Amino acid sequence: MKLVLCLHCQDLFNLALEEKSCRCGLTKGKYINQLHAIYSGEHAMPLGFANSSLIKAIQNQPKEGLGETFTAFIIPRECATFVKED
Ligand SMILES: [Zn+2]
Repeated sequence: MKLVLCLHCQDLFNLALEEKSCRCGLTKGKYINQLHAIYSGEHAMPLGFANSSLIKAIQNQPKEGLGETFTAFIIPRECATFVKED
């Protein structure tokens, strides 16, 4: 799952085929097909959630105590499937 964090307003949002933007409007992004996405904005930070890890954490949601961790990662500046456009 691809997401974008706006380092200006701290909004974090997932992408869809329709363009989304953060609350302050400086960061935008969208999928262009099932695999490829684009984003823009000088404060934009691309992130990914490891889908299998997220699903496992959801399935193992604890009743109480510590939360269930899952894998999230910062996507490299150069990524063939998640391209910054400015
Ligand atoms: Zn913002």
